[in-house]
Amino acid sequence: EPDPTLRPAPQPEDADRALRPQALQDFIGQEEARANLRVFIESAKLRGEAMDHTLFHGPPGLGKTTLAQIMAKELGVNFRMTSGPVLARAGDLAAILTNLETRDVLFIDEIHRLNPAVEEVLYPAMEDFELDLVIGEGPAARTVRIELQPFTLVGATTRLGLLTTPLRDRFGIPTRLQFYTASELDQIVARGARLMGIAAEPEGTREIARRARGTPRVAGRLLRRVVDFALVEGDGRLTREVADGALTRLGVDHLGLDGADRRYLTLIAENYAGGPVGVETLSAALSEVRDAIEEVIEPFLLQQGLIQRTPRGRMLAGKAWTHLGMATPKAPGQ
Ligand code: ADP
Repeated sequence: EPDPTLRPAPQPEDADRALRPQALQDFIGQEEARANLRVFIESAKLRGEAMDHTLFHGPPGLGKTTLAQIMAKELGVNFRMTSGPVLARAGDLAAILTNLETRDVLFIDEIHRLNPAVEEVLYPAMEDFELDLVIGEGPAARTVRIELQPFTLVGATTRLGLLTTPLRDRFGIPTRLQFYTASELDQIVARGARLMGIAAEPEGTREIARRARGTPRVAGRLLRRVVDFALVEGDGRLTREVADGALTRLGVDHLGLDGADRRYLTLIAENYAGGPVGVETLSAALSEVRDAIEEVIEPFLLQQGLIQRTPRGRMLAGKAWTHLGMATPKAPGQ
């Protein structure tokens, strides 16, 4: 009998992984991206070549990592994963590249955060599957060229605008991921409940889907919390009442906005009369890092038509005033 205290507690990451679709046909949503990828994967297999380098961009939690893993599976090759900030020196990337097998998928998350010296190494690797390594220092330094196996680089970024042009140009398949519709998220939540062995009513999964910020990762997290409430305070069934009660207690409102979203909107309404206000000002006032505001909070608020981005800063849209239960101020001159 193994000591139960030695068993690692399941991490949220593990729960995420259990729900991760493994094949392209199990991946729900992103219709257009999925249809295109299917063609490019099939074509690469028919040609017996490495698939073209692929760049996924869009807000966090929309399935960039999942799609990269699926690509490797469908191509029948190894999946190797790293991230921009982790690759501190050119040698770190060189070590990974020289260990790749033919046609492997190398996934680099947060690729917009690559150190420029590391990025330099990536250019010839992507273009010609070659690596130029500098051996030694000073006058004795010399460059050796190393041939690499053909591979597929899959980059992921939440900030396309921060990618350098030369890097961006080297991706043959740039793919933008979109927020999911409520009906797509409903299918994802229902599938998740099934995998967790939870009896779920259609109205229950729909309630979670509607309030998941258009994002599968959020849907998965809300599902796990609602299931907690269903098991502890209900009869274990995921109903609309249980979902609504749990989500409200978690501070998720009917549009799916959470506390951080509402603080953002309320600040612009109450302190800046609806804007425009610059992102740096918002960052300081909310004590949120600018990246979190631009990558996580704003994309969904923009997509929902709650805010607008103008050259002079962010402004609340009419829908935001209504949502906050406040009167829309009249525009000057009206
Ligand atoms: P990203 O890399 O864009 O941040 P991930 O690929 O890590 O997002 O996805 C986040 C979570 O959402 C994963 O745990 C995955 O299980 C789930 N997920 C993402 N897309 C889908 C989808 N289309 N269908 C089902 N689950 C999904």
